[in-house]
Amino acid sequence: MHPTASLLRDVPDFPEPGVVFKDITPMLDDAEAFGTVVRDLAAPFADQGVTHVVGIESRGFIMGAPVALALGAGFIPVRKPGKLPYTTVSQSYDLEYGSDTIEMHVDAVGPGDRVLIVDDVIATGGTASATLQLVRAQGAEVVGIAAYVELSFLSGRDHLDDVPIVTLVHVD
Ligand code: AMP
Repeated sequence: MHPTASLLRDVPDFPEPGVVFKDITPMLDDAEAFGTVVRDLAAPFADQGVTHVVGIESRGFIMGAPVALALGAGFIPVRKPGKLPYTTVSQSYDLEYGSDTIEMHVDAVGPGDRVLIVDDVIATGGTASATLQLVRAQGAEVVGIAAYVELSFLSGRDHLDDVPIVTLVHVD
C-alpha cells in the first residue's frame, strides 16, 4: 500500500446514499504526502516524452497541474460542458443512468503530442475512457493514465484498453 494511503478519508453516503467518497483533501493538506504522490504519479512516465498532461475537472486539475510541471509538460483542462471559453471538442459517455459530456479546447492537443491523463480517482473508468477518446480524436497519442486512487472492485481498467495505467492506492 502507498505510504500516503492512511491520509485518504472515506466519507460514507456522499454525494448520495450508498457511495463511499474517497476524499483526498487530508493528503493534499500534507505537503510531504502531496509531494510524494505527485512524484510517484510522474516517475513512471519521466522518460516517455510527455508533452502534455490532461487533467479532468475538478480534482484532476489539482493532481494534474503539479504532475505536468514535474514532467516538464504543459497542462490541459478537460471540463464539464459550457465551462471552457474558447471553441471546444466534446465527448459523451454513458453513466449508469443517463449520460455525461466532457469538453476540451479544439487547439489543446494534436498530432505529435504525447499525453498523460491524470485524475484523482478511477471508479468505473468511464470518465478516463471518454478523455482517452477525446484526446485520440484530436490525433494525439495517449502514453498513459495516472490516478491517485483506483476502485479496483469496479473494474475500471476493463474500459481502458491497452493504455498503461498507474494508480497508487487500490481499493478492493
Ligand atoms: P468514473 O468515470 O466512474 O471512473 O468516475 C471517475 C470520476 O468520478 C473521477 O473524476 C472521480 O473524481 C469521481 N469519483 C467517482 N467515484 C468516486 C468516489 N467513490 N470517491 C471520489 N471520487 C469519485
